[in-house]
Order: sequence, then structure tokens, then C-alpha cells
Amino acid sequence: MIGRFGRRLGLAIAFTLAFHAGAALAQLTPGEDATATLAHADATKTSDHPAFMDTVARLGRDVPRLTAAQRAHLHYLEAWQVAYAGNYEAAVPLLEAVIGGSSDTTLRFRATATLINILGIGHRYQEAFSRLTELTDSLPEVSDPQARLQGLGEAAQMLTSAGQYDIAAEYAERMIESTPAGDSACKGTFIKLHALYRGKRIEGADPRFTQGIAACEAAGENLIANALRADVAEGTIHAGHAAEAVAMLEKHYPAVVRDQYPSLISQFESLLAEGHWQTGDVDAAEKYAHAAVDSSIAGEYSEPMAVALRTLYLAAKRRGDFRASTDWLERYMQADKGYLDDVTARALAYQVVKQQVTSSRMEADALDRQNQILHLQREVDRRSMETSRLYILLLLTVLAAIGLWLVRTKRSQLRFMRMARRDSLTGICNRQHFVEEATQTLQNVRKNGKPSCLILFDLDHFKLVNDTYGHAEGDWVLLRVVAECRDHILEGDVFGRLGGEEFGILLPNADETAGAKRADMIRTALAAPPAGGPSTAHVTASFGVACTSRHGEQLDRLLAKADEALYRAKAAGRNRVEIALPDEPLSESVSREAMPAASSTWAARH
Ligand code: GH3
Ligand code: MG
Ligand code: MG
Repeated sequence: MIGRFGRRLGLAIAFTLAFHAGAALAQLTPGEDATATLAHADATKTSDHPAFMDTVARLGRDVPRLTAAQRAHLHYLEAWQVAYAGNYEAAVPLLEAVIGGSSDTTLRFRATATLINILGIGHRYQEAFSRLTELTDSLPEVSDPQARLQGLGEAAQMLTSAGQYDIAAEYAERMIESTPAGDSACKGTFIKLHALYRGKRIEGADPRFTQGIAACEAAGENLIANALRADVAEGTIHAGHAAEAVAMLEKHYPAVVRDQYPSLISQFESLLAEGHWQTGDVDAAEKYAHAAVDSSIAGEYSEPMAVALRTLYLAAKRRGDFRASTDWLERYMQADKGYLDDVTARALAYQVVKQQVTSSRMEADALDRQNQILHLQREVDRRSMETSRLYILLLLTVLAAIGLWLVRTKRSQLRFMRMARRDSLTGICNRQHFVEEATQTLQNVRKNGKPSCLILFDLDHFKLVNDTYGHAEGDWVLLRVVAECRDHILEGDVFGRLGGEEFGILLPNADETAGAKRADMIRTALAAPPAGGPSTAHVTASFGVACTSRHGEQLDRLLAKADEALYRAKAAGRNRVEIALPDEPLSESVSREAMPAASSTWAARH
């Protein structure tokens, strides 16, 4: 197995790499810069293979003195050496170790290209195409021109072998474009024209072949020029110009043999066999066919071998050698099937890997999209949570605002209610509220059977105060009056301003004596000269007192009776208290005039 691949492997690698090789003979001396030594060995590994082997062996004994990068380069060259020597199975893990262990992108790229080459030779097509995906993916990271050419060439050749001629031609075109100025684009041109010819995009007579052959010859690449000639010859034979093809093939056949590249030799011989058969030279056809079969790698099936075996079968048949013709036919069919199976295997492997790559990329893409969706979902959740929080916050704010508004409304309602109930100047009950409160209080008191008294009083000559001191001062006097009264108001009493300078006090739980006494206390307090404050105006008041014990619990009646008594107090000289008397049959004016004596109990000081 190793030998079978090994022979072809070494030659294939030689073919692949021969174009980069420099010609200088390595003269390595101990102590030299290892990086430079490795670079030189690398550049001359095919052109001076013995020296290359010496260098690799010598450095291999001195590994501990090498840097990591130098060691990786040495391991690559060792792997290449193992492959070149035909030890295919041993080379694969060595190359894989370089690919997996080196941090040098270019070195990994080169090792991958070499690995693809030997995997292809070993018919391990699926692995080869998987590695090819890695290789083409890493192309943008590789700037070294020789490494790029190696990788692009490997890709183009692998794709051609899988029947992917158009993509192969594109890679070959990139090779041509990547060729450094001053270098020949011969190899790229060959791979491109070969792919186009195999893909039936061009014919053997295409002038680009002539140009390519000329360019390769000019660059000294005779082997490649002859590889181009093989395609031209095949095209020419199939176009019916076998003699022309034979002439061209025979002219260059000796050079091909000298170059010792077996697959090209067997290709030439196979074409010569076919060409001679077409021209009717059966002997020559058989001679070249045998040569082609001998040149082919044993056990390997190739197109030239199948063509050669078919020629041998046809020749034996024509000679009437049925036994031989049967043998050749059997071998031909086996070779043709083997070759076609191999072609199919390559094409299938390419498709399988392509599907795998596509599906894994789609998976990655789907995963990526899934992640994006998850991310978006999270974002949406986060935002909706934020939105909910904001919403809740907004609701709370609205609720708080509503609450505040309600409190304020309630407060202002209460304020308005108070304002509606209170006298705006003094803050005590206005007339209406006084009536309500007093009525309610009288009702309550009636239930427990206790008496109540109503005091009414009116300031004396208040108009005069206004006229003398002004209206504003009159207001101050009213406030002082209320303040004085408060000192004599008990809890449960109802105090109100009933008119301009007329006030009422309902005293629950007070009999006539208590009522008259309280009225006089207030009268006395008001009559006292003002003890400071903004107003010096002195004012007195006249009082009327009406109690339930004598006049019943109806407020209207009490008000009327108290007012009557008040009138009497005025009439009696003011600044005095008068108690409402029981109803009298006399007219109001008469009774008032007749009453002064009745108020003597609460006589004023003057
Ligand atoms: P009398 O002793 O007979 O009651 O004499 P009087 O001047 O008080 O007479 P009357 O009760 O008719 O006049 C009341 C005056 O009180 C009339 C008005 O100018 C004044 N007055 C009523 N309300 C207010 C008020 O809120 N502020 C002020 N400054 N004066 C008021
Ligand atoms: Mg009055
Ligand atoms: Mg008055």
C-alpha cells in the first residue's frame, strides 16, 4: 500500500513543488542561523534533495536549540520528506501535527496543501476535500506568494479531478494573477487550460494552448509544456487529425521520457497508441499501448491505462487472437470501470463535503439567527419589562397625582365648605351656618331637657367708628370684638356673626341667669378700653338675651325675642343687657318704653 502510493506520491509532490525550487546548492555550516538554514533547505528540497535531507537530519538532532517557529518549520520539512520518500501513511499524521500545532498561518497552510495532495493520491477524497475547505477558507490570511500559489494550485487540481472544471479554472486564474512579477505563470496557465479543456470549454486547437506552451518553454518548464501538448494531442486525435497528433507526440516523447514523470509518460504513450491506431499503424499502436500499461502505476486505474488496454484488445481482435483479445478486454473493462469509479468517487466526495459544509454553515447560520432571535427576545423582554416598569411607574404617578388631586380637591372643598360656613372677616360662623348649628344644638339639648339661652348683641354707634376712624379700622374693631368674645365662649357654644356688627351666641345647658351673666361678662369685656392692638377705637355693645325656659326651643322665636330685648337695651341707653320678657299683650313700642326697669339687673356702669 505504502509503496503503491509512495511512488506516485513522491513524483506528484515533485511535480507540484518543482516549480518553486531555487537552484543553489546548500553549503550548511554549524552555527549558522537556523531560520535561514531552514528557508534555504525548503527552497532547495527538490533541486538539491540530498542536501535537503542532510540539513533536515542535522537539525533534527539539534531540536532543543531551535525556537518554536524553527521547530515547526523543521517538522513540516520532515513530514514533506517522509511523503516524498513515499511513506504516505506516516506523512499524514506528521502533517496533521504541524497543522494542529503551529501558530504560523503560512506554515499551516502549506502543510494543509501538502496533506491534500497526498490524501488525493491515497484516494482519501472526502478527507482531502474537507481539508480543501479549510485551505480555501484560510486563503485570505496567507500573503506569502509561494504558499498562495501552492494552495491555489492544489485547489484547482483537486477540483479538476472532481469534475469541477469551472471553479478549478477560477482558482487557476487566481494563480496566474498571484504570480509575482518576473515569475512565469506557466503552471497556473497549464492548470487553467487543462481544466477548460477537460470541461470542454476549449478545444485542443485553441490558440491559448500554443501561447501557453511557448510561455512554459520560455520559462524552462518543459515538463509542463509537454503536459499541455498531451491535451492538444488528444484534442487533435479526437478531431480526426491523428497523424498530426502522432507527429507532435513523437517529437517530444524523448524529452518526456527524460523527465521521468510516469503519469505524463504513460499519457504520451497512450495517446501515441491511440493516434497510431487511428492512422492504421497497428504495430506502433500495440508497442506504445504496452509501454503505457508498463508506465502506469500497478493497481492504479487511469484514463491512459484504460485507453492503452482498449487499443491492445482491438489489436488482438484484429489479429484474430481471440484468447489475447478476451484477456485485454477483461483488463480494459476492469481498468475503465476502476478509472470511472475513481472519477465518480472524487465527484461524490466533493459533493458530500460540499453538502456537509453547506449544512454546517446553514446550521451555524441558523444558530446565529437563533441567537439573534434570543438576543432580540431578551431585548424585547427587557424592554417590555422596562415598559411594564415604566407603565407601573406611570400608573403610580397617575395614581399619586389623582390622590394628590383628590386630597387637594377635598381640601379645597373643605376650604370652600368652611368658607361657605364662615364669615370672611372674622372666621366665625356666618348667619346661615349659625342658624344651622344653633338649630342642631337646640335639638340636641332638648333631648336631655336642659335649658339654653341665645345672646344677641349689636355694637353701639358703630357707624360713628367707621366715620371717625375709617372702614378698615372698623374691621379691626370687629376682629377685636370677636377675639374678646372667644375668651368667654365655652365648648359647645355656637358663635356667629349675624349681620354687619351684630353677633349671636347660643349657650346650650344655660338657664336665664347663666345666660344673662355671660352676656354681661362679654359686655364688660368689650366696654373695657382696648389694651393695645392696631385700633384705639373704643366701642360698646348692647345685648338681648332670650332663653328656652321662657320662650321655647324654636330658634326663630328665640332670635326674635333676643332681638326685642336688644332693642330695649339700645333704647335704654346702650351698653347694657336686656333679658327677653314673656310675651306681653302691649304693642312693641309701648312695651319697649315700659321696660327699662326690667334691665336694671344687668345695668351698665354708666
Ligand atoms: P346703633 O348703636 O343704633 O346700632 O348705631 P349704629 O351706628 O351701630 O347703627 P347701625 O347698626 O344702623 O349701623 C351699623 C353700621 O355698621 C353700618 C355699617 O357702616 C357698619 N358696618 C356694618 N358692617 C360692617 C363691616 O363689616 N365693617 C365696618 N367697618 N363697618 C360695618
Ligand atoms: Mg346694627
Ligand atoms: Mg350698631
